[in-house]
Amino acid sequence: MTDSCLFCRIVEGKAHARIVHEDERLVAIEDINPQAPLHVLVIPRRHVATLNELAAEDDGLVGEMIRRAAAIARARGVDQSGYRTVFNCNRGAGQSVFHIHLHLLGGRRLGWPPG
Ligand code: AMP
Ligand code: ZN
Repeated sequence: MTDSCLFCRIVEGKAHARIVHEDERLVAIEDINPQAPLHVLVIPRRHVATLNELAAEDDGLVGEMIRRAAAIARARGVDQSGYRTVFNCNRGAGQSVFHIHLHLLGGRRLGWPPG
């Protein structure tokens, strides 16, 4: 945990967020600046700055993040219409918070290729 990290503060309850799901290893929140009718962030409680810092021992954690996104998509009724999950890695790909998070986007037509 680092106090300089926004998502560490959110998962510790020290900064406000609209929480969608919480368990031992993950917290999911509503994105404050939604890019689609459904825009949720699935965040591990443990601080990992970017995908580049993940190790083999984290495979289970990443699997949980993806399966949690799928469960939220199902609960919000977009699992059949379609949704997108995105990890941005580093600034050139749009990462602005350096604590990994999986974006879950849905509820509108999503273009491809992404911007
Ligand atoms: P990224 O640009 O991939 O690092 O994604 C960071 C996301 O966090 C963006 O979609 C922001 O809108 C979102 N965000 C930033 N601050 C907050 C906050 N306080 N609560 C919820 N979402 C946030
Ligand atoms: Zn952090």
